[in-house]
Amino acid sequence: MPAFKTLDDLGDIKGKRVLVRVDLNVPVAEGKVTDTTRIERVAPTIQELSDKGAKVILLAHFGRPKGGPEAEFSLKVVVSSVEAVLGRTVNFAEDCIGDKAASAIDGLKVGGILLLENTRFHKGEEKNEPDFVKALAANGDIFVNDAFSAAHRAHASTEGLAHHLPAYAGRTMQAELEALEKGLGNPTRPVVAIVGGAKVSSKIDLLQNLVKKVDALVIGGGMANTFLAAQGIDVGKSLCEHDLADTARAILAEAKSAGCDIVLPSDGVVAREFKANAANETVSVSAIPADAMMLDVGPKSVDAVNAWISKGATLVWNGPLGAFEITPFDAATVAAAKHAAEETKAGKLVSVAGGGDTVAALNHAGVADDFTYISTAGGAFLEWMEGKPLPGVEVLKK
Ligand code: AMP
Repeated sequence: MPAFKTLDDLGDIKGKRVLVRVDLNVPVAEGKVTDTTRIERVAPTIQELSDKGAKVILLAHFGRPKGGPEAEFSLKVVVSSVEAVLGRTVNFAEDCIGDKAASAIDGLKVGGILLLENTRFHKGEEKNEPDFVKALAANGDIFVNDAFSAAHRAHASTEGLAHHLPAYAGRTMQAELEALEKGLGNPTRPVVAIVGGAKVSSKIDLLQNLVKKVDALVIGGGMANTFLAAQGIDVGKSLCEHDLADTARAILAEAKSAGCDIVLPSDGVVAREFKANAANETVSVSAIPADAMMLDVGPKSVDAVNAWISKGATLVWNGPLGAFEITPFDAATVAAAKHAAEETKAGKLVSVAGGGDTVAALNHAGVADDFTYISTAGGAFLEWMEGKPLPGVEVLKK
């Protein structure tokens, strides 16, 4: 029984006006949507509501307009792609509140779908202003939030509306929350976390939360250098935040007192240039040449990571183990991702990953379909990993 209401809890919604917050913040180049992943994610909720005879009214933001209409940020550009993914007609209204929205909604047939213009064309959206929330709420009988990726923000269409209308999680939101619950909320132990990426500074809260919750924390990527340096290891020209040595040591101490094993690289692949196929060698972390930088963790380190993945029942992953965009420094990330995928397919591991470059890294490894769940949410996934309550989720709780 989830802690929030889902579409299963909706009664008869025939002819009801359902406001659905979706994430349509898709990449666009030259007037065309270049990646429809986000649209595909929200399609099941829209189709289900439409099949049940609701008037489906989509609310979304697009880009970062400055609080007023800007042609560049009109959601009109996504309409044909949403239609193509849904295989249904999608109407469009040039405003998300007021007469334009109301008359478009009046004209909607049972099961009809309408996309309202960018919510961020009104200042009240990001400020969660009561008058704006009321104007949005006037267009609906029910609120469904299917935009987990926007749930870390307390905006009118992500948080405010749930105070005015009966609120439900859409199917994507539901899947995301259920996967996250399995990942860190109520996970099967041992729980292993892999955190990589460029810098410690962007992930301090995340690391501090994880050491309290997981049995082993693998630290890879550029941020591992900061931890190695904090322990007196010379990392040469590697990316390293020397000013965070105290923070790194504090995190190590917290891990120790919480009984969390920290897994740092024991070897690395070093190069003199940050470019694909740069001349490289594998060295122990105690022998990084002064003029070289570590761009990937080495094979011994991968063995240690994979041993933990084998031992673990649950894996939570954010950030690559190395500079995965340039070969051969993608090797460790690919090897660990493949191993996690195998363990997941064998039914031995629940694997949850997400946040920024992680999705790209796992796509690159060709394992995106084999993980238990890969979140396409960036900021919201990270805030969840940081253990912070997400306003858009909190209001959905029963
Ligand atoms: P983040 O957005 O913090 O997850 O960082 C991802 C970025 O970290 C990717 O662009 C990687 O190329 C980069 N990265 C990972 N490992 C290293 C490393 N050892 N040195 C430099 N950059 C790295």
